[in-house]
Formats: sequence, structure tokens, C-alpha cells
Amino acid sequence: MKEKVLIVEDDLSLSRMLQINLEKEGYIVQVAKDGPRALAVASYELPDLIILDVGLPGLDGFAVAEALKKDLRTRYIPIIMLTAYSGLKDKLTGFEKGVEDYIPKPFDLPELLARVKAVLKRAGRRKVIDELTGFPGENEIREEFEKKISENQPTALIFIEVKEDYPKGKELQKVLKKVSEVLWSVLDPEREIASYLGGKKFALLTTPIRAMQICVPIIRKFERLQGKSFEGKLRVVGEESEEGAHLLLAVVTSEELIKDYRGAKERAEEMLEKARSMAGSVWLDFKQFAREIR
Ligand code: CA
Repeated sequence: MKEKVLIVEDDLSLSRMLQINLEKEGYIVQVAKDGPRALAVASYELPDLIILDVGLPGLDGFAVAEALKKDLRTRYIPIIMLTAYSGLKDKLTGFEKGVEDYIPKPFDLPELLARVKAVLKRAGRRKVIDELTGFPGENEIREEFEKKISENQPTALIFIEVKEDYPKGKELQKVLKKVSEVLWSVLDPEREIASYLGGKKFALLTTPIRAMQICVPIIRKFERLQGKSFEGKLRVVGEESEEGAHLLLAVVTSEELIKDYRGAKERAEEMLEKARSMAGSVWLDFKQFAREIR
């Protein structure tokens, strides 16, 4: 499959030259001439790489990169920054990940093409985005969770598992696609992260308060997508053994003295084990779980 490159550059003769040469290399190329357009195209097209000029009218390249990094959909897209400024290296070192590389202007074309290739190769190896669900893999949520824990921020993980009696193969893929649609529709990409953990599992990182608020909507939306209704009482239990796919949710929060992601996952696994034996879609938080097992 051809890789997509987005060029963000207000100098049209330069972007044209880049476009022609990148297309020669076999890439699909799009061009945006300012920041707002770049953000719109990036979130819609999800390019594999963005070549981003720093000097743009209005929203400059740094602001664009920052906005891209804040959005869950675009935060993993590697960026190569183009700049005519000197002393940029210092500015970029404070910039964390997200900017993979920078190239001072004027640049040497073969050099730029080589860097494009190298960055895409690196990004391809990581393969953070799962194609079916649109979510990154488990590493992302693990790292983010442990970062929040180390900063003593109140944090919650919602582990989500599909419980299904019949779906296999393609059917299961459809169900996973529905789950991801639901998660995309509830999550706030500026504050929350979701990952696809593989198999039938997802996880969502949020705050403890939000976690309590969004479990029922997640289940409800999912059941509705399948043409069912879920009269969610607070906390547990869906309908009596209904056929088809259901969702099991286990909420683990930093308030329960969880030290790391692994600990959270083990705790959630115990909860999911219990949830699997219950009818319909279920969500459990730890307090509920602790009461239940007593
Ligand atoms: Ca410029």
C-alpha cells in the first residue's frame, strides 16, 4: 500500500516541488498551505507522515504540531519539521516526541527524501495503530498510565472485553469495529487514550470520575448498535442471557494502590473473570467487586 505524506507549506513553489518529487518516489501526496487546513486534512486523511514548515501564517508549525499531538487520532503521525530558523535545535529538544526529525532550510532534496524514507520505515516498524479499530496498541496506554501514576495524578483504566456467544472470524471483526466506534464516540481525545489490546480486549485511560460516568453510556451505545436496549441500572447486570455480543467492563483506579499497569491489568482480569459469569453486559468497579466477593 502506498504511504501518504502531507506537506504543510505556505510557499507554493516549494510545496509543489516537494509534491512532484515525493510522488516520483511513489508516495500519495497532499498539500495544505496553512495550519487550520493541515489539521483538518490530517485528522481526516490520517497521513503516514507530515512534513511541516515552521514558518506559516497564523498558526505556526509548532502550534500545528502541538495540536496534532493533542488529538488521539493524529498524535502518532510522525512529523518532519522544515525550518529556516537558526537555533531551532534548542526549541525542538523541549518538544518531546511527535517531531521525529527536523531539516533546516534550504535543504538538499535527496537528503530530505532519504529522511522521509527513514522516518516512515521507523514508524512502520512500530505499527502503533491497529487498522481495524484505529487504536494504538497496548504500549501506548501502559506508558501513559505509568506516567500518570508516577506524577500522582488520579487515573483510571477501564478494561473492556467482548463477550460473545457466536461471533468468530469476520463476525468478531464486525463486533470489534462496533466497539471501537463506540469508544471513539465517547472518548475525549484531548484527555483520554484508548488502546486495542488484541483479541477481544480494549482499554481506556481516563480519570476515576469520568470512568464512573462513561461505563453505562459505552454499554448502552454498544447494545443500541446491535439493536438491543440496555436498561442500565447503576453498576451491574444486563438482561438475562441474551444471545450475541456483550461488553464486560472493569474499572481500576489509581486510588486502589495500583503500582503499575501490570498490577492494574491483573486486578481487572480478576474482575472480568467474575463478570464473564454474569448475564448480559456488565460493568464493575473495584468497590463493587470487593463487596461482591466478600
Ligand atoms: Ca513558510
